[in-house]
Amino acid sequence: MTTTTDLVSYEDALASYDPVMGLEVHVELGTNTKMFCGCSTSLGADPNTQTCPTCLGMPGALPVVNATGVESAIKIGLALNCEIAEWCRFARKNYFYPDMPKNFQTSQYDEPIAFNGYLDVQLEDGETFRVEIERAHMEEDTGKSLHVGGATGRIHGASHSLLDYNRAGIPLIEIVTKPIVGAGERAPEVARAYVRELRELIRALGVSEARMEQGQMRCDVNLSLRPHGREKFGTRSETKNVNSLRSVERAARFEIQRHAAVLSSGGTIVQETRHFHEDTGSTTSGRVKEEAEDYRYFPEPDLVPVAPSREWVEEIRGSLPELPLARRNRLREEWGVSGTDMQAILNAGTLDLIVRTIEAGADAASARKWWMGELARSANESGVAPDQLAITPDQVARVSELVAKGELNDKLARQVIEGVLAGEGTPDEVVDKRGLKVVSDEGALGTAVDEAIAGNPGVADKIRGGKVAAAGALVGAVMKATRGQADAARVKELILEKLGVSEG
Ligand SMILES: [Zn+2]
Repeated sequence: MTTTTDLVSYEDALASYDPVMGLEVHVELGTNTKMFCGCSTSLGADPNTQTCPTCLGMPGALPVVNATGVESAIKIGLALNCEIAEWCRFARKNYFYPDMPKNFQTSQYDEPIAFNGYLDVQLEDGETFRVEIERAHMEEDTGKSLHVGGATGRIHGASHSLLDYNRAGIPLIEIVTKPIVGAGERAPEVARAYVRELRELIRALGVSEARMEQGQMRCDVNLSLRPHGREKFGTRSETKNVNSLRSVERAARFEIQRHAAVLSSGGTIVQETRHFHEDTGSTTSGRVKEEAEDYRYFPEPDLVPVAPSREWVEEIRGSLPELPLARRNRLREEWGVSGTDMQAILNAGTLDLIVRTIEAGADAASARKWWMGELARSANESGVAPDQLAITPDQVARVSELVAKGELNDKLARQVIEGVLAGEGTPDEVVDKRGLKVVSDEGALGTAVDEAIAGNPGVADKIRGGKVAAAGALVGAVMKATRGQADAARVKELILEKLGVSEG
């Protein structure tokens, strides 16, 4: 067991070694029932209320494959540009763990449903990196253990453990990449971009909500280093169940630095699983890794092979939605934004909100402006995702409509948005309640302009003398008098008109 947590700097690590990564992502499917029985998969039920003889591993209980689970697996496989097996079987992966009542996990071994694909992912600078996919296979989740009595919730120090089998048997798809080479110093960024692209893809397919914070999607980060110029891979570590995009990136980065420290000091890397710690950004040793043969895989005798007809596969292919990267590239063109702008939109989590705001009638530029400005900031400040803000795309579209009609200026529009977010009602209600209409009544505006001219005779003289730039001071005075509710461009026009000066 490696106990050292000495690190070398990231730059020094990359100066001597190339990272090789493998990413294994587990996705919990959003099917209504479990993979091999009819039990519900809904969250939040009392412990052990969603179980039956099959998912509790009772003698004589027989599993039946969930057809939606298979269909979802094929969808994922096709979206990852994989070949779909014409015939494949489930296999038993034998090992004991208290949260797995059958003493084996029903999984797939050498006959995965999907194999040999790729996923193109986009990096922060808009560049594309191709990640090759080894396989995507079907399996089932385990139950959950709750260790009681200790300080940490871990088994060490606990007085007893409770088991909840509600999750046992929920369908999982495990997606395994081929070794990712050639990413160099960008390896951690590639890892993050890959998991994000995969998450977007899974959501677009509608097969899972893929919420990492709820464990619906989790990533194992396998990493090894090899000296520059060497063909052979080094020994890898497997950092298990990393559950946020940021942590995936940090775990890869930490392991690069740790491996480099061990190798540079003449040590050897132990093949083992490791745990990532959010608080410190570091990993610690788990258990020494078993080899595949330790699991004594053998074909599952209680399930018939899965043999999806080519007609069905093609039917599923034909039903796939536009995939996220293609969609982003299309929108980039339609909106006329750069690759890095699109990455920023993706990072902010506002892409779908902007699309829906445009669908509700706003033009692309203003939809983007509000969601990436005011609203992204507001979400950030209150620590929520933008789609959890108390404003809908329809309402944002209404605000931008009022601006387009000249009934609101930007400053007033911001106050309207603030009011909607504060629960004061719809944009129109906030406009009424707060009295936020632009003063478009020419008579009232004319009076305010006359007063500003009378109150600032020196400035007025300068403008008459041709110094048009001085008009800013008078515009400011009018805006102040109307409490910001005038259209500044119209105010300037009126001032110049009244002083008999033309702008150009
Ligand atoms: Zn069941």
